[in-house]
Amino acid sequence: MTTTEPDCLFCKIAAGQVPAEIVRDGERVLAFRDINPQAPTHVLVIPREHHPDAASAAKAGSGLVDAIVSEAHAIAEDEGIAGTGYRLVFNTGSGAGQTVFHLHCHLLGGRGMEWPPG
Ligand code: 5GP
Repeated sequence: MTTTEPDCLFCKIAAGQVPAEIVRDGERVLAFRDINPQAPTHVLVIPREHHPDAASAAKAGSGLVDAIVSEAHAIAEDEGIAGTGYRLVFNTGSGAGQTVFHLHCHLLGGRGMEWPPG
């Protein structure tokens, strides 16, 4: 059974209760465009199941983080950015900039990237 949190924004997007521009709609994983894009391609890849962050999903050991990374790569290919390179970001904890506490992977690409990130 998929676990969801009634007050979680991304659970609501996964349930179709909050609109989003969906780019992939899989059984376990969903992807949609970020509402405030930081790059020409800025897609959020999330599990349908609620986990507060990547570490807690990895600890659950269900392969969800692998599925998210594979999905992000497939989307990068669709978006034409797999060849030039892209960035995957899992903000983990408020100190790292996490604002939505439902695991999500930022897929960013289509422009040059700098290091270190801000
Ligand atoms: P975080 O800061 O937690 O790593 O990333 C959360 C991301 O969710 C942000 O980049 C923010 O722009 C995006 N976001 C917040 N609310 C919404 C929303 O209602 N719809 C979509 N599509 N993205 C959202």
